[in-house]
Amino acid sequence: MRVAGGRLALPGLVDMRTSTLRVAPNLGWSDLEPLPMMNLPANLPMGVANEAKLAALAQIWGVPAGMRTRRTFLYVSGDVGVGAAIVVEDEIFHGRHGWSGEIGHLTIDPAGPLCRCGSTGCLERYAGKEALVSAVGLDVDTPDEMLADRLSTADAAAKATVQDAGAALGQAIADAVNLLDIDQVLLGGSYAGIAHLLAPAIEAELRDRVLGAPWAPVTVAAAPVADHAALTGGALAVLRGVIDDPVRLIERLG
Ligand SMILES: [Zn+2]
Repeated sequence: MRVAGGRLALPGLVDMRTSTLRVAPNLGWSDLEPLPMMNLPANLPMGVANEAKLAALAQIWGVPAGMRTRRTFLYVSGDVGVGAAIVVEDEIFHGRHGWSGEIGHLTIDPAGPLCRCGSTGCLERYAGKEALVSAVGLDVDTPDEMLADRLSTADAAAKATVQDAGAALGQAIADAVNLLDIDQVLLGGSYAGIAHLLAPAIEAELRDRVLGAPWAPVTVAAAPVADHAALTGGALAVLRGVIDDPVRLIERLG
């Protein structure tokens, strides 16, 4: 097998032109050039990209056309951090520097707890994986499936956790929808397996807070590609580069 290229997915602000990670608050990394540290073959075209944006590519190119309902959507990915990608007509809106989509640092409550980014009351503190697991007495290393099982139970702690996280997510997503006029939200990462639990609380906030909701209800669903989404998106990004410019690959392989 000949390797056409690779992508390194990182949960933070990535400068794609220089393959530099500016900051990843939950890793405690900043101003880092990770590729030279990886001892990769010299002629292997590698790039660094934001994890949520790569995972969103899997939702665009990794899904059979007949299964897709929208070409414009907001992808929201949960883990310790909460990331997002704004997808407009099958293209990711990167923003001026490629730093769009940092939904995890939208403010839910300015008087809320300190976030690793330095701000206070960010969405991550209410709906990130640490908030979810600690509210039901689990460890942050708990596998997503086990967390989903715990949150599916009928006890009061599980229900309150789902309600609180869903409401915080709904507030942040409503802000995004009011700004962007998007009517589909796909939940990925550790949210994919609990999307059906979170959706009612999120949709309740969207009904109350999105100005256009009476005319265009916003749908919330699990992302179609849930497992290894960033990995799949990274591979598809390389493949798209080959399709766009096959001569470059042929020349490199000699
Ligand atoms: Zn923050």
